[in-house]
Order: sequence, then structure tokens, then C-alpha cells
Amino acid sequence: MKKVIVVGAGIAGLAAGIYAQKSGFGVTICEAHSRPGGNCTGWRRGGYFFEGSMHWLNGSSPHSAVNRLWRETGALSDTSHIIKHDPFLTSDCNGQQACLYRDVDKFEQHLCDLSPEDTSQVKRMCADLRRFTAVDIPVTDIFGLKVREKAPSLLKTGIKMLPAALRMGELGKISAKEYANRFHSPAIRLLLLNTVNPGYDAVSLFFTMAHFLSGDGGYVEGGTVNMVQNMVKRFTDSGGLIRYNTRVERIIVEGGQAIGISACGSTIPADAVIVTADTLVVVASPDSGGIFSPPLRDTWLKKIQKNTQLIINTFLCLGVETDLSALPANIAFSLEKPFEFNGQTLDYLACRNYASYPGYAPEGCSALTIKISGDSYDYWVLARKQGLYEQRKEELFETVLEKLETRFPVIKGKTRVHDIATPLTYEKYCGTYRGSWMTQTPPGKHRRLPYPCKPKSVKNLYFAGQRILLPGGLPAVVVTGRRAAQYLCRDFGMVFGSDLAR
Ligand SMILES: Cc1cc2nc3c(=O)[nH]c(=O)nc-3n(C[C@H](O)[C@H](O)[C@H](O)COP(=O)(O)OP(=O)(O)OC[C@H]3O[C@@H](n4cnc5c(N)ncnc54)[C@H](O)[C@@H]3O)c2cc1C
Repeated sequence: MKKVIVVGAGIAGLAAGIYAQKSGFGVTICEAHSRPGGNCTGWRRGGYFFEGSMHWLNGSSPHSAVNRLWRETGALSDTSHIIKHDPFLTSDCNGQQACLYRDVDKFEQHLCDLSPEDTSQVKRMCADLRRFTAVDIPVTDIFGLKVREKAPSLLKTGIKMLPAALRMGELGKISAKEYANRFHSPAIRLLLLNTVNPGYDAVSLFFTMAHFLSGDGGYVEGGTVNMVQNMVKRFTDSGGLIRYNTRVERIIVEGGQAIGISACGSTIPADAVIVTADTLVVVASPDSGGIFSPPLRDTWLKKIQKNTQLIINTFLCLGVETDLSALPANIAFSLEKPFEFNGQTLDYLACRNYASYPGYAPEGCSALTIKISGDSYDYWVLARKQGLYEQRKEELFETVLEKLETRFPVIKGKTRVHDIATPLTYEKYCGTYRGSWMTQTPPGKHRRLPYPCKPKSVKNLYFAGQRILLPGGLPAVVVTGRRAAQYLCRDFGMVFGSDLAR
């Protein structure tokens, strides 16, 4: 049995490990942290559970192509309960509320009623959204692969997407923010701006909204932690091994071929290595966390380093002693008095309310999370250098709490637990570059196709993970994990997924 080492037990690493193990390899995953999941994480504090990653999952619907991958890797099964809040998102501007309903006709009617002067713009948007509901992330097989069960051909998937593809050229030239600004209603603008990062192109905005409208984009009960545990079980039940607290320090390359890794002072030999830790970190120079010496020189890796535009945020979690299940599950609300943070003026807050999710809070209580978008990495590094890290976190918390209590007086004085995850938290626990967890796809030229999984300069070495297929996120990383395992199978003459049925 050929031995494979996978670096990192995030979703990409677990997926690559499962597919490789199920194709007849003997796989060991080396994970730096004491637990699996990487960015796909959540944590408990004082009786509350805070979801630290997924808010919606592409592939939760059985009609989407990625659903098959979630099932093959064990993340989802027939018993998974998918929560689909409708509306998925609500925006609130000075009392006027716009809702992203999951039915396009209802959504269209609602926005026209809300803002009659936007009627023609709303109708145009909904006509495009109907086209985009046929868009799906393609799941294909690489050329020349022996495979147990073939994926549908790209041509078949592509034809369905043609009507939307014809609109992508125009929508790809403007940002989500520019698109949102076409509407008069501030509530509609806020709704759109809060659906994706405002710096994304408008194609990403349509792609995301269309997911919800096509019945996808649910939340798996039990959250990311549950999904990760299911994947770990699938991997270990198939004979795979995970070594926790094992930070890979070096990929050993001899004669132009990856032959193992070194970690914790010892060497582990392997026939092949799949690297799924953040590409931006692992290909950096060794003194910046890189694990290749000498560094790899492939052009596509240089492009990732040069072109990746990071998404970074600070994440606030609150446990409140009151039942907020009557409030929307996802709400963005404008602030009467904007505030400054890290040189940015924040004029709205986006709050996820987990009150109706079983097990996320003690009886009659609610768990909330608030995302403060923007690259605050240097801000937090400076605060830490000055010995002000904890103080700055508390200041931010106090400011946000005051805004929340003003908007929702029912929570006044009822916060029992709070916790703040900064980019430094994500950097420390997940090893991601500057604590970033996704990549922007700004208007203009950017990659929609995956970067190659294989460097030309070293044999038997493969890459997967969030930077390989933009913009990252869970569906992208599971696709890249599968792809890396397919290249591995092709190179070693194995049948991909030969043991997947069991
Ligand atoms: C707040 C937040 C919200 C999100 N919301 C969503 C959402 O709603 N929908 C969605 O699809 N996605 C969402 N995501 C994004 C998604 O969670 C990530 O894109 C995805 O989990 C990245 O997976 P990955 O396997 O590529 O990398 P990671 O999760 O970063 O995994 C890499 C693993 O490698 C390990 N590692 C690093 N270096 C080494 C080393 N040298 N040796 C050994 N191990 C190493 C790390 O510890 C980590 O476990 C969100 C993420 C965050 C943080």
C-alpha cells in the first residue's frame, strides 16, 4: 500500500484524506492543532456554543453537485437536519426591512412593495437571479483518470449555466457595492451589501443569492463541528490515521520528488504528500512559516502569493440571557451613530442569531455572533505589541454591545458571556495567513478556474485548500481536496474512489 501524508486536517485535508484512503492509499493526516477542522470551527463558553465558521453551506441541497461530495466524505448523510431560515437575511434601515426570501417571486414582490421606485431595477435583478439559479459549482473528473463512478461531464453542466454565463461578462465588471448602489432603497442596498463582501464582483453576489433561491445554502444542525466530526469518523473508519499536535516543519524532497515530511523532530517517509495548510503560508520562506527549503518556484504559486486579496474579520460572540427566537436569524442593521474601528467608519452591524438552534444556548437564552469586516490584522498586532490587546478587544466589545442594546433593548444588561476572535486568533489556531479565511473576487480579471494542484518542479506533491479555488469557502475546499486525490490516483495508476461505496 502506497503511503500518503496529508498536511492539515481542515476540510480540504479531511476530504483529500478520505478520497485517497478510499482509493487504496494508506493515509496519515498531520495536524498542527489538537483538534481537526481548521477554520471550520466553533467553541463553547459558559454554556453557549459559538459557530466560528459556516453560516450557510453550498451543497446542503441534494440538487447541487457538491452535495455528492459532502455525502461521500460523510459530512452529510440522510439523517442530517438542514436548517433553512426563510428569509435567510434581513436588513433593517431606520425601521424599513428588506428580506432575502428563498422564493424568487416572493422576493421580487416584497422588494417592489418595499420600494416602488426600484421596481424596474428589482425586476431586472430577479430576471437575472432566475438565470443564476441554474449555476452550480462544477464537480468533474480530471482527464485520464480511472474512476469507479464518473462525474457528469462539464459540457452537460455548462449547458444548464449558459443563460447566466451570458450575463457574467457584464456583472463581472462591477463590484457588489456598485451594483447595490443602483437601488434607491437603503434597506435593499444594505441587504445586497451584506450578502457578500462588498468588494466582490456582482457575479459573486448573484451566485450567492441564487443559492438561497434554488433551495441551497442551508445550515447543518450541529454546525461545522458536527460536519468535521462526521468526516473524521469517515476517514478513521476507512483506516486513516490522524496525528494531532504535529506541525509539519519541512516537506522532504529528494531527486525532485516528495518523499516525506519532518515534524516534531522526526521524519515520516511517504510515497506522496498532499499539502492543504494555507498555501500562502506554506510556500513562503522558511522563516515566515514556509515548509519548503528551497522554496518552490512554480509560476502559479507565485501568482497565488501576488494576487490573493485576503478576506479578514474580527468576530464577536455574545451569550445573552433572553430568548431571541422571535428575531430574524440573520440581520444587518444600520447605525444611527456610526463608529470608527481600525480607521474605518462602520455604519451597520451584521448579527447572526442562533436562538432557534437547539443546543446553542441554555434554555431561554440565545447565542449571537457579530462579524466586523475589514483587514484589522496590523491593528491587532500593534495592540499586542503595546500590551493593549485585551483592552482593545474589550473596547470593541463595549462599543458593539452599546449598539446592539440600542437596537434590541430586550438584551439590555443580559449579556452573560462574551468572546472575541481576532485575525490573530484564527492565525494562531488555524495557521492561516494573517488570519484570513477566504479570498476576494473583485471585479475585472480574477480566476474562476482552480490553480493547478500539482507543482511541476516536484513529483508526488499535491496542493488543496482555500487558495487553490477562489474564493475559497467550504464547497471550494472540498472540491480541491477531491481533485488532489484524483491527481494522486492518476499518477499512481489507482482507481479513484474504488472503495467509496463502503
Ligand atoms: C468566521 C468564518 C465564517 C465562515 N463562513 C463560511 C460560510 O458561511 N460558508 C462557507 O462555505 N465557508 C465559510 N468559511 C470559510 C471556511 O471555513 C474555510 O474556507 C475553510 O474551512 C478552509 O478550509 P481549508 O481546509 O482550506 O483550510 P483550513 O481550515 O485553514 O485548514 C488547514 C489546517 O491545516 C493545519 N495546519 C496549518 N499549518 C500546518 C502545518 N505546518 N502542519 C500541520 N498542520 C498545519 C491547520 O491547523 C488547519 O487545521 C468561514 C470561515 C470563517 C473563519
